[in-house]
Amino acid sequence: MLLLIPGPVTTRPEVRRAMSQDIAPWDNDFRAVLVRLRERILRVAGGRPDEHAALPLQGCGHFVTEAALRTFLPPGGRILIPATGAYADRMVRLARESGRVPVPLPLGPTETTDPQAVARALAEDPTLSHVGVVYSETGSGVIHDAVAIGAVVRTAGRRMIVDSVSAFGALPLDLSAMPEVDAAVFTTNKCLEALPGAGFAVARIDRLQACGGNAGSWSFDLSDIYAHALRAGPGSFRFTPPAQILAALDVALDYYEAETRPRRLERYTANMRTLYAGIQRLGLTPYLPEEQQGPVIMNVHVPADPAWTLQGFVDALKRRNVLISNFHNTPVPTFRVGCIGAITPAEMAGAVEAMHQALQEIGVTRRKAA
Ligand SMILES: *Cc1c(COP(=O)(O)O)cnc(C)c1O
Repeated sequence: MLLLIPGPVTTRPEVRRAMSQDIAPWDNDFRAVLVRLRERILRVAGGRPDEHAALPLQGCGHFVTEAALRTFLPPGGRILIPATGAYADRMVRLARESGRVPVPLPLGPTETTDPQAVARALAEDPTLSHVGVVYSETGSGVIHDAVAIGAVVRTAGRRMIVDSVSAFGALPLDLSAMPEVDAAVFTTNKCLEALPGAGFAVARIDRLQACGGNAGSWSFDLSDIYAHALRAGPGSFRFTPPAQILAALDVALDYYEAETRPRRLERYTANMRTLYAGIQRLGLTPYLPEEQQGPVIMNVHVPADPAWTLQGFVDALKRRNVLISNFHNTPVPTFRVGCIGAITPAEMAGAVEAMHQALQEIGVTRRKAA
C-alpha cells in the first residue's frame, strides 16, 4: 500500500523491521542508540554541538510544538504567526491554550509569507517577542521561506520558532546560520521516513538555559529535557520513550544519509511534478498554480461531477493499493496527496493511473473544479 496521506508516510521494510524487538530503554545498548540519534539529528538540522541540543519528546508534532511555545515564551508572551493555513491555525490554538498570546498575520490561503510584512508587523508591535513560522504548510502545500523570514526576525532582534514538521529532512535547514531560531520542531514520520511516535526539537542551548521555569508543564518543558540530559547523560530519557520508534529512526537515518538531503528533495520534487502533470492530464484542477506548489503535498480541487464523493474516491483508490486522506485541510473542498515518504516518481505515476481508474469506477466524468 502506498501511503500518500502524507504523514505517516510510506516507509521501507528495513525501517519497520527495526521495530520488531523488545527494548529496555534504560539499558546501555539503547542509550548508545539515543546518543547517536541526537548527534545525527543535530547534523540534519545544521546545529552546532556547542550551541544546539537535539531534544526528543514522546508523541506527535503538536506535542513538541506546544513544548517549544511553552518553553521559549513566558505565560502571556506574544508570538506573531503568519496565517499560512491549517497548521499555522494549529500553532495559534496551541499558543492560546497554553496561555500565550498568538497574533496572526493575515495571509491569503495560497499566498507565500512576505518577509517584509513580518518586518512591518514586528516594527509596529514591540511586545511581540517571537515569530512562529510553519516552514512547509501542509494545509496548502506552500513552502514559506523560513530563512528569509528568519533574517528579518534577527534584524528586528526577536526570536523564532519553526514548525518544520513536514519540511525536516527534505527542505534546507542550517540552524548554525539562524541564531534567531530558539527551536525547530519536527517528528519522525514525515520526511525522515520513519514511523510516528516521537518528536524532536533542535534548540539553542543558551536559550534553554535562560528560559527555565516558563513551561508550566513538566511533560512539555524542553529546558527540563535538556537539564536531564546534562544530569543523566544524553542517552537517557526522563520518562519511558518510544524505543522501537527511535530504533526505526536510527535505521531510517542510514537511508537518509546515504541519499543525502538535496537528493531527497529532488526525489520529492520529481514525485510532485509527476503528480501535478498527471492530475492535469486527468482533467482535474490543482489547488495551487505550479509556481506555488511545494514538493511535500498537493491539493486538488474536487471535480464538479455529482457522482464525486471523497470517501468513494478514497475507497476506490484503496482497492488499488493507494491510500490518501479522507478529509481536506483547505478552505474549499479538495483532496490531498502526499509526495513524501519512501516512494519514487514511478510509484507516483502508478498512483496517478490508480486515480484514473478510481474516477472511472465511481463514474466521475466532469473533472474540472466544482
Ligand atoms: C504533521 C504536521 C504537524 C503535526 O502533526 P501531528 O499529527 O501532531 O504529528 C505539525 N505541523 C505540520 C506542518 C505538519 O505537517
